[in-house]
Amino acid sequence: MSAPDYYSILGVPRDASADQIKKAYRKMAMKVHPDVATDPDAEEKFKQVNEAYEVLSDPNKRSIFDRGGDPMGPGGGDPFANMGGFGGFGSFASQGFDIGDLFGAMFGGATTSRGPKSRVRRGQDQLIRTRLTLSEAVFGVTKPIKFDTHVVCNTCNGSGGVNNREPVTCTQCHGRGEVITTQRSILGEIRTTQQCPNCQGFGNIIPEPCPDCSGQGRVPEQRTINVKIPAGVDTGNRIHLQGQGEIGPGAGPAGDLYVEIQVAPHDVFRRDHDNLEMVIRLPMSLAALGTELDIDTLESELPSCPPERQKVHMHVPAGTQSGTRLVVADHGVPSLRANRRGETTRGDLGVTLLVQTPTKLDDEQRALLAQFAQMRGEGGPEVLNKHPEEKGFFDRIRDVFSQ
Ligand SMILES: [Zn+2]
Ligand SMILES: [Zn+2]
Repeated sequence: MSAPDYYSILGVPRDASADQIKKAYRKMAMKVHPDVATDPDAEEKFKQVNEAYEVLSDPNKRSIFDRGGDPMGPGGGDPFANMGGFGGFGSFASQGFDIGDLFGAMFGGATTSRGPKSRVRRGQDQLIRTRLTLSEAVFGVTKPIKFDTHVVCNTCNGSGGVNNREPVTCTQCHGRGEVITTQRSILGEIRTTQQCPNCQGFGNIIPEPCPDCSGQGRVPEQRTINVKIPAGVDTGNRIHLQGQGEIGPGAGPAGDLYVEIQVAPHDVFRRDHDNLEMVIRLPMSLAALGTELDIDTLESELPSCPPERQKVHMHVPAGTQSGTRLVVADHGVPSLRANRRGETTRGDLGVTLLVQTPTKLDDEQRALLAQFAQMRGEGGPEVLNKHPEEKGFFDRIRDVFSQ
């Protein structure tokens, strides 16, 4: 098999100079690169263009070809063997390269310069979590919160240098913050831009770095701030404190602080949206006869709670069934948002009554109960048809005990 006409593939005359060949190759390679060309044969053409360039840019292979030989034939070598460390062509995009950058680098074109980094940057936002009791979350609290952060270095007032000496221009990169290295390859010069190792990309050097912050202008510190937590917050709510996060490198502006709330479970009360729920166990006799209840409210845990709100009084009517939920209005959770009339509303306190069947009866008690049933003419067990009220009841009991 004879070799294809490499000159016509690149569109150059047979006496083209090395420079002409290189220029023609660049042009063709850009045009037929599979990542940019729409031609379905682009990949094949791109291979041919590369093969042509490999032959014509190599005086040895070009000479073989000029004399009618096949420089890529047996003994001519793998067309991609000398392509350097790129692992073959046609797959740049799939390797995550940007084709524009790549061609720029391959042909010694302009590389994008980002300039020196600033020593001064904004601090990062910080997220801290705080655990509240249920009453703190429901009624609000101002809480001291301790957290690790960065503050401005007092020794150098954030300048990073001793005696406020100004940074001096880096002699290695002349203030550019980056250095360019040039490597030769068969495709021409490959220029790569790297962060200047002398100044870490800042373009300048602090002549005498502050010993306390190593020139950072900031130091780690544990801070305590008083955070005002509004009434009605719940687990997962975040309080945004602008500018209370860490000071940035070079004493840059502080980031923001987010305080995320976690509410600890309470022994008695459980939150359900804006309601508080509790369960009271009632002996069968009290449920049958009716009774009065005085209940300590969640608010009673607050030192500032007025006496009239520390307890609620409830009347349990005679004949109360197990699962009955009594509602005490306005003793639930204040809503975080005001309603349409601009008022903050408050949920209810729900009290679910569980009637307890007596256990461990002695002989006399058993006889009395039997007598009681006989007097009432109570019958045997009775199968109920499914009943919407009953379903609600069992759901509620399950909710109460699943906490
Ligand atoms: Zn310092
Ligand atoms: Zn430098």
